[in-house]
Amino acid sequence: MKHQPKRTLIKNGSVVTPGKIIKADLFIKGEIIAGINSDIAAPGAEVIDARGKYVLPGGIDVHTHFNLDTGIAIAQDDFYTGTVAAAMGGTTTIIDHPGFGPEGCSLFHQIEKYHGLADGNAVIDYSFHGVLQHLDDQVLNDIPKLADQGITSLKAYMTYDYMFSGDMLADVFKKAKDSGMLIAVHAEDDCLIKSLKEKYIREGRKDAIYHALSRPSKAEAIAVKKVINKAGEAGNAPLYIVHLSTKEGALAVKKAKESGRLVFAETCPQYLLLEQDLYNLPDHEGLKYVMSPPLRRKEDQKALWEGLSDESISVIASDHCPFDFELKKQLASRDFSKCPGGIPGVETRLGLLFSKGVLENKISLQQFVKAVSENPARIMGLYPRKGVIKKGSDADLIIIDPEEEICISSKMLHENVDYTPYEGINVFGWPRMTMVRGAVIVRDKKFTGKKGFGKFIKRKRF
Ligand SMILES: [Zn+2]
Repeated sequence: MKHQPKRTLIKNGSVVTPGKIIKADLFIKGEIIAGINSDIAAPGAEVIDARGKYVLPGGIDVHTHFNLDTGIAIAQDDFYTGTVAAAMGGTTTIIDHPGFGPEGCSLFHQIEKYHGLADGNAVIDYSFHGVLQHLDDQVLNDIPKLADQGITSLKAYMTYDYMFSGDMLADVFKKAKDSGMLIAVHAEDDCLIKSLKEKYIREGRKDAIYHALSRPSKAEAIAVKKVINKAGEAGNAPLYIVHLSTKEGALAVKKAKESGRLVFAETCPQYLLLEQDLYNLPDHEGLKYVMSPPLRRKEDQKALWEGLSDESISVIASDHCPFDFELKKQLASRDFSKCPGGIPGVETRLGLLFSKGVLENKISLQQFVKAVSENPARIMGLYPRKGVIKKGSDADLIIIDPEEEICISSKMLHENVDYTPYEGINVFGWPRMTMVRGAVIVRDKKFTGKKGFGKFIKRKRF
């Protein structure tokens, strides 16, 4: 007998498609969306009732750090626990930023290592960004070869030990542009950070707040402007700025876009929802929020929301990089500079932004879907296979009930870490079903997926 692909019918939902929200049924055959229409009849198909609920394309989180070795500690979620948490929060594809490899290693070193970590473990689909840590002819020659493997974005840091100078960035942008490779950049000015950090340590000012004060808004603004110029000089090479956190940065991106530049910016829920005064919490609780860039002020949050609503900021990603609060305290209660940087967020991204963004009227439902799914898919070479509800696309879908209220707590989450920065925040509309390529992997907020179900997805060139 011929094998029949699994058939599923999602009935009566409000389906969010590009341009419009429609009351419709979705028919899924095998791994693919096979039809969108009112009143589809599909005898024998499994029926999922979505009346009163939204059906959205699954979340795409293009900034996670599973298994990241920071030198101080290793991020606690691996590709199994991290993708389970992602799925529980409505994310169906992640693109992970690998850490640095051994000094002088080739561009392929970390990709091979991360295949070893992810293949057979991930429960949702995945890809990796490449990581730049030195520059020579070999690295430049390998850029197009990396793109051949379906890795079509590459990250450079303007701070940390393997930072890229302006000249190095210029060379990389030229080569990347010719190879269809997108360069993602962590934009913070190393010089300013270093001198402030040394000053505070020298003066014995080592509380968590000095982590933030040693990485001021100005450090981001300087670096953002510099890297935008470098990409421009390389003939408008495409540039993607990760975790944008400041008003000055947001304005620089907006200005560049208005002048026709291929600049894309990503921000994160923490920069939209949390503020710098959290670093002053007693009992070292400020260490929970140590990450780079640090949390900012109200006016920065406001500018980032405005950037999302005028669409000059394209993406909301999590920058998920969890370390236990207990560990942070143990390592850094006497000195912020010893704290492993990073916070959890892969599971809370969609629920938080749907509630705090859409339901509180800061962005529209369409803009929410663009920022958490469609734009990351388009920019990172996954579209239209991912990031859209369309006939022929992968059936990566989530269902959100806007009426359902949840109080976020680390106990209810699946991230492998002892706290969440969003403890006690009430939200409406947590994702309750997650489907990846036609398979329901979260049903009624319970994980039903399988280890290793997730596939490595080759991405298209920019
Ligand atoms: Zn990161």
